[in-house]
Parts: sequence; structure tokens; C-alpha cells
Amino acid sequence: MDGTMMDFPLTLTPMLERAGKLFPEVEIVTRLPDKSLHRHSFVDFHRRATQLASALEAAGLKRGERVATIMWNSYAHLEIYFGVPCSGGVLHTLNFRLHENDIAFIANHAEDRFLIVDDVLLPIYEKIKDKVSFERVFVVPLSGAPIPDGLENYEDFLASGPDGYSFPELDENAACGMCYTSGTTGKPKGVAYSHRAMVLHTFCAGLPDIVGLSQCDVVLPVVPMFHANAWGLAYLAVMVGSKIAFPGPHMDADSLLELCEAEQVTLAAGVPTIWIGILQALENDASRWKLHPDFRTVVGGSALPESMIRDFDKHGITTIHAWGMTELTPLGTLSRLKRGMEGMSEDARYDVRAKQGMPVPYVEARVVDDNGEAPWDGKSMGEFQVRGPWVAANYYNSEEGQDKWTDDGWFGTGDVVTMDAEGYVKITDRTKDLIKSGGEWISSVDLENALMGHASVREAAVIAVAHEKWTERPLAVIVAAEGADVNAASLNDFLSQNFAKWWLPDAYEVVEEIPRTSTGKFLKTALREKFADRYAGQ
Ligand code: AMP
Repeated sequence: MDGTMMDFPLTLTPMLERAGKLFPEVEIVTRLPDKSLHRHSFVDFHRRATQLASALEAAGLKRGERVATIMWNSYAHLEIYFGVPCSGGVLHTLNFRLHENDIAFIANHAEDRFLIVDDVLLPIYEKIKDKVSFERVFVVPLSGAPIPDGLENYEDFLASGPDGYSFPELDENAACGMCYTSGTTGKPKGVAYSHRAMVLHTFCAGLPDIVGLSQCDVVLPVVPMFHANAWGLAYLAVMVGSKIAFPGPHMDADSLLELCEAEQVTLAAGVPTIWIGILQALENDASRWKLHPDFRTVVGGSALPESMIRDFDKHGITTIHAWGMTELTPLGTLSRLKRGMEGMSEDARYDVRAKQGMPVPYVEARVVDDNGEAPWDGKSMGEFQVRGPWVAANYYNSEEGQDKWTDDGWFGTGDVVTMDAEGYVKITDRTKDLIKSGGEWISSVDLENALMGHASVREAAVIAVAHEKWTERPLAVIVAAEGADVNAASLNDFLSQNFAKWWLPDAYEVVEEIPRTSTGKFLKTALREKFADRYAGQ
């Protein structure tokens, strides 16, 4: 008798099975493209996820093979979130906001075997289809539009799954899902999540002092399901049995507020850009919507400004600031006041709430500067490094980028932070040369390289400038070629051949020369300081 507990693998399957059995009547509501509401319940969700797993097995999907999605947040995406991994496959959610070349690169790099795509997103599939090689493509009839020849109806595929299916036993360390991040320099990098990491992450997220969710809640994941597992909310809702409201393609502030009112949402999560829109709508006329009195929000992906926390408080809505990364499944830190802090001055409390917060349980953190580990004094700045059971150990099949992991087993986030004596992290800068606009990354290096290929440009440095709506937007600082006229419109025309429209700089600044560091690199800190207010009021 030398054992302790049963060796019970931490996989997603028990989460799904339990939800189907214990919460059969809990609703899952989805805003369809025509704005009507699709409703079904956990019993339907459980049945359809099981049917999907059965159909995938019958279609020959083998353990570890990838199934990609190009989908909005919906009931179908939720069943795929479980049906694929519980069958032994790997769910690969594609970020369809990326440029078509990047989407194709990512699908090819991951060797995705099947694709499931919303009918309303078929124009994106059309753009990539000649660059990728999915064996089969299943179309979710979200709008009910006719399905083009050569593609299959997802509903027919689901129905084809033989009855009597039972889920296979899986290794908890096997991959359940994958996301690619473009939050690095170079090509996007894949992160493969294990079942074990996902289960532990879900337990952690559910704690009352972390995201905190109960079966009495109604949760609205505004954060796309293609972004870092919708921050864990979909799995969390299923684990605890809370009602879910999915926005489908309707992501504007009015639609989200309507859904919050109609379904009496108690918890929603998304990037600051979404909340800025919602705040504006509330400031215009808060009486238009009768929100649930306990409505609260988790905001992350970019810094949540203190002013927004204050403004939402005025509307009786609590915003909780969280920090995470694709490489962390994604939850890393979250800011809630500790016991005793209610007694601090109002300003001091807001200061704490606006920080990125304390590391969540099992995410160990340190701050490292040139001299080694920096003290937690709220002043010493260094790179934020983490380790833990849901921190990636490497990038999937990539030589590049592996230098983010230190020899002693920590992951370097590329965020520059201070940590105070209480353990609250505050991001002060970023070492990655990237811009985060509305929750999506823009590579300044890629834009610079492209701009320097234009005849009128001698040198180009692209920097992130604070922007009220998008958090950051790119600004291009240009040294013109001898005798050339720099024309913003024609430069943007030139860039748009290779970049998505939302990547294009909002403005160009022509300078005589770009300041450099001692090693000859662009001194971007100086540029960021100089043009800090360039987008003020825009
Ligand atoms: P992603 O992998 O796309 O989720 O991006 C992760 C990165 O987004 C982090 O390394 C940060 O640079 C940034 N980020 C995420 N959450 C926050 C936050 N609350 N405040 C500031 N930056 C954030």
C-alpha cells in the first residue's frame, strides 16, 4: 500500500460529461447573423459534442491530428471546443483577423487536416483556399446561406457520427488545442496546450479571487474563441455549469449591451477597445439598458486605463484587470484588492486595480534585469518571467523564438514590469517590437522593412502610439529619400498590397534623421516619447 491517490488523468472529457449530466437545462444562447437568438441547452451541447467526436473518429481523425476552425463565438464553436479534443484530436482555432498569407502559413505550419468554418466567414476561406490543403472543409450553417459546391455541411457531418460512441481514454499530457501568437517577431508561433494544462487553468480561473464563476452566473465571452482559448471562459463555464451567451458576429457595443440585457449577463470579458465602446454607449444613455446589478467584466489583452475603471464604477460596473499571454493559456496575473486594502485612499485603491495584478496560483513570477533578479519594490524594472503548469515549454515546431525560455526553466514574457512588495505587477514597457491595436498584434519590423522598399523612403521606424479607442496605433517615422516627396496615401496603398488594412499607419512623420542607440539600432524610446501625444483626441 504505497500509493496515494488514483492516477486519474486531467482531461477535458469529464468536464463535458458532467456538464451534460448535471446541468442539462442550462442554456447556451447565440446571436445569429440575422440577430435572432439560437437557444439550446447543455444536454444538446453534450449530445452534439459527442456526435462530433464520433463523426471525427469515423472520418479517420487520429490522435494528435489538428482540426482548424474559422469561427465566431457560438454554440457550434463550443461543441467543437470539446468534441475535437475529447476525440483525441487537437483544436486549432485560426485567428481570421490576420492577413490571408499569415492564416495560410499558420494552417500549413500546424498541418491542419480538417477545417470547420462559419458560412458567414467563407470569404476568408476563399482567400486562403489556394494556399492551404485541408482534406475536408465543413461549413457551419450559421446564416443558412447555400453551401458552395465541394464543401460539406457541418450539420450533415455531425449527423453522420455513428451512435453508441464512447470517448477514448487520453493522456493528460497530450495536446488538446493550439493557438498561434503573432506577439513575437518573425513568423507566428504555435503554442500547443495539453489537456492537463487546460484543466488546471480552468480550476484556477474559477477561483472566487481570480475570474470567479458559478452556476448562477451568465457569462458572455466577448474575447474571440480564437484568442488564447477565449481566456479559458468557455471551459470554465462548462466546468461550473453557468449559462453562456455568445455574441456570434455582433461585436458592436449596442449589440453586446442588448445581449447583456436580454440574457441578464453577469460576467463578460474582452479587450479594452470593446469596453471603450461600451462605456461610450453607456455615457450617451445608460437608461437604454437594464443590466444585471452584479454585472462585472474582466478586461485584459492590453492595459486597462485607470480612468476606465473609475468611469465603469460610476455606472455600477466592476472591471477586473487581468494580464495574460497565448503562451500562458492565457491567465497570468489579475488585480483584485487584498484584504485590508479597502481601507486605503480611493486613489491608492484605483492605483492597485489599474495594475496588471498578482500572479495567479501556480504561476510563479520573477522580475529580471541586467543584474539578475530585481527586488519587489515597485520601482525596479525588468523583464517579467514566469513558470507554471500552464506556461508553454516551447513553440510548436519552431527553431525561432526558443530563446524566450531561460536555461533555468523560466519563460521570458517580453513585458517590462515592476512588482511591488504586495506582489502586484505593473507593466511599464515591452521589449517586443510590436504594436497591440484593439487586441491584435502589428509588427513594426515588418512594416519598416516594407516601407524601406518604397522609392520615396530612405529610413522608416514604426512605433506604437497611445490611442484612445484602439489602445495603440502604429505611427511611421520616415526619413525621405533624396529629393523624394513622402505621401502618406501612396505609402499606405503600397503597404496594403501585403498587409491587412488595420495594420496601416494612421500617420507618417517625416524627420531629418532617426535617433540611434550606441549599437546603431533605432532609438525607439526617444521616438515614442517625442510622438507620445500624436494620436491624442483621435
Ligand atoms: P497575446 O498572446 O496576444 O494575448 O498577447 C500577450 C501580450 O499582450 C502580453 O505579453 C502583453 O504585452 C500584452 N498584454 C496582455 N494583457 C495585458 C494587460 N492587461 N496590460 C498590458 N498588456 C497586456
